[in-house]
Amino acid sequence: MAQDELQKLINLIARLPGIGNKSAQRIALYLIKNKQDLMIPLSESIELTAASIKKCNTCGILDTQEPCKICSNPDRLSSIVCIVEDMADVWAFERSGFFKGHYHVVGGLLSAAKGFSEQDLKLNKIKERIEKNNVKEIILALSATIEGQTTALVIKDFFESLEIKITQLAYGVPIGSEIHYLDDNTLGAALESRKNF
Ligand SMILES: [Zn+2]
Repeated sequence: MAQDELQKLINLIARLPGIGNKSAQRIALYLIKNKQDLMIPLSESIELTAASIKKCNTCGILDTQEPCKICSNPDRLSSIVCIVEDMADVWAFERSGFFKGHYHVVGGLLSAAKGFSEQDLKLNKIKERIEKNNVKEIILALSATIEGQTTALVIKDFFESLEIKITQLAYGVPIGSEIHYLDDNTLGAALESRKNF
């Protein structure tokens, strides 16, 4: 019985992204060795988070409160909405501390292979927000991949008829990098999005 539970734990850990069976065994052993100060708090934290986590009804951010902390923060600008693919992108923006507006998490990028269609973007929900909160600008912050750019174009087309500014993150030279190390596409994009100096 005990062996079965351990095997079950290893099998579950192995289902996490980027974790193979060997790593799962190592993690399970590590947890067992650190039962009091890691394994038990971790299991409690997973249980509590599973019970309380939800998607904000307005913006799609994962939070334990509804509306989420960003939607309900009076210091954030509701007139600027940054459209991102998932929660990890929100965390990246929040880590940088540069963005003070609201978000809209679309939850995926258009892809026939992954079965993610235009309906899944729930653009009508963003439209509702634009009208309700008097949104002045939408920032498209989607990946610089074919799927990301296709999705950005579809979103741009959808909102083109509205009186609203639609912007996209600039692509270009990463801070601290040297020009001769850039790949051709990045260099081309940087040249295209050059600005007055
Ligand atoms: Zn929210």
